[in-house]
Amino acid sequence: MLPEYLQGIARVAVDAAVSASPMAHRVRERLPQAQWDILADGEHLEPGYVQEAVLYLKQYKGRFVRPCPGTSHYQCCGYQIIHIGENCPLRCSYCILQAYFQDRVLKVWANQDDLWQELERTFTENSRQRFRMGTGEFTDSLVLEPLTGYSRDLVGFLRAYPQVCLELKSKVVDLSWMEAAHDPTRVLPAWSMNAPEISAREEQGQCATLEERLRAARTCAQAGFRVCLHFDPIILFPGWEAGYARTIEMIFDYLTPGDIAYVSLGSFRHMPDLKRHIAQNFPQSSYIYGEFITGLDGKQRLLRPLRVQQFRFLVQGLRQGGLDRQLYFCMESNEVWQAVLGRTPRDFGGLYRYLMDLAFEGSN
Ligand code: SF4
Repeated sequence: MLPEYLQGIARVAVDAAVSASPMAHRVRERLPQAQWDILADGEHLEPGYVQEAVLYLKQYKGRFVRPCPGTSHYQCCGYQIIHIGENCPLRCSYCILQAYFQDRVLKVWANQDDLWQELERTFTENSRQRFRMGTGEFTDSLVLEPLTGYSRDLVGFLRAYPQVCLELKSKVVDLSWMEAAHDPTRVLPAWSMNAPEISAREEQGQCATLEERLRAARTCAQAGFRVCLHFDPIILFPGWEAGYARTIEMIFDYLTPGDIAYVSLGSFRHMPDLKRHIAQNFPQSSYIYGEFITGLDGKQRLLRPLRVQQFRFLVQGLRQGGLDRQLYFCMESNEVWQAVLGRTPRDFGGLYRYLMDLAFEGSN
């Protein structure tokens, strides 16, 4: 049975070049009621369709593997993206995809053979290099999994490449990829964490609850996987301390520090354009009107003392639960690192290397 957020897909458009692909067959089997349109080479989806109700299986012609865009002037983690599609049927008010893409059509790159070839080339040309990769940058890694089985395919493909650690970042629970994993130390299932109030109010469209995410994380940990947690975006609201303290307490109800590969912390930040989208699409979301300044990278961030206050509070709670080495900041300055954690990425050879070591720490 498909989750409700996928049951509304009334139409599947597919590029003729991939209409006979295994991905197209699979989706057709799982969405038998949907209208099925084949687009000839060069043909585009016509404007005016109901965006959320369309799934587009596309022959993707760009690069599948690319560095995470990160940000200039701040400490970046050197993660590599495996690009499998665009957009997401869930509705988080703060979602960056609103500003990235012009439409909300769910796109899946169905020419998987081209992806496999590019990955194979990347790994054989760099056979001595380790890779920390993930699919959760331009879509949620697992949100379309019941339809596409993409992560399961990817996990299966990567079994031949032990130099790769794949992170699957999500706000839903789908563990069907687990049985394709040959070595649990090479897959890092990851879930977003937030204060319960923010999760309930700002993560709409049937995201799993925090408890459901943590229960799934525990299932993964019991099967030998280590999980990642992402507190991003941390948002200021009246009573934020109590809210985040509750989530931290919940984390340790379900997981031990040894179950966790790393935890990222990122305060709400945005390009000016995103604020406009949030104001328009989620008029009740008031956190966009906080005390922001323009950072060195052009993004709006909370004033540094406020960010430090947020981070100190979360770090203290997470340290009390036994996490320390696993904590890192997403796109923060050395000053903030030093003020909160008492160390900077320079102290351990750079964030890229540090996270790579943490990702591979459980290696067999
Ligand atoms: S789950 Fe992630 S990708 Fe989907 S709407 Fe929320 S923030 Fe955006």
